[in-house]
Amino acid sequence: MTKVQVRELVFEKFISREEIDVAVQKVADAINRDFEGKNPLLLAILNGAFIFASDLMRKITIPCEISFVKFASYSGTQSTSNIKELIGVDEDLKGRYVIIVEDIVDTGLTMEKLLQDIDLKKPAGVKVACFCFKPEAFQKDYSIDYIGLTIPNDFIVGYGLDYDGYGRNLPDIYKIVK
Ligand code: 5GP
Repeated sequence: MTKVQVRELVFEKFISREEIDVAVQKVADAINRDFEGKNPLLLAILNGAFIFASDLMRKITIPCEISFVKFASYSGTQSTSNIKELIGVDEDLKGRYVIIVEDIVDTGLTMEKLLQDIDLKKPAGVKVACFCFKPEAFQKDYSIDYIGLTIPNDFIVGYGLDYDGYGRNLPDIYKIVK
């Protein structure tokens, strides 16, 4: 099992870049099918979703646009309920089809905040696409429409996901060695 060290923590290989590619393609295929003729706006959540969003967008074959929002909710390896908005939604979303693009949904708090903000802007429809979903950690009841991979409640790094700012550049995904 390949291991990497990120800061003081050790992680082991969990999801290969080939499996990642298949999962991203699956999400893109569903979006291509569901949003034909709807010119969706991808709203990617920084920082973690930047790699997933760029891979996903290149696999989307229908006309679409992208924009970015930024929140801070994670502290080290723990999700916190204290969510700060750093970059908000500045697009006119009225009548638009919006697809929120998130790297990982854990407790679901960050996504809930964004869904509430977007709802006020009267879009035609909002869907959520996340690369990884942790059902054991999820505390909310809204639906996640497109899921790349469903994973256990372990802290992961790589493919855009960091530990303390590092590890985002790993092409594969690694999980923490407990
Ligand atoms: P939530 O609000 O759903 O608890 O957390 C969402 C955010 O926490 C994600 O966008 C991501 O940035 C971060 N996060 C959640 N789980 C993990 C994880 O396993 N690894 C990393 N690196 N970040 C995570």
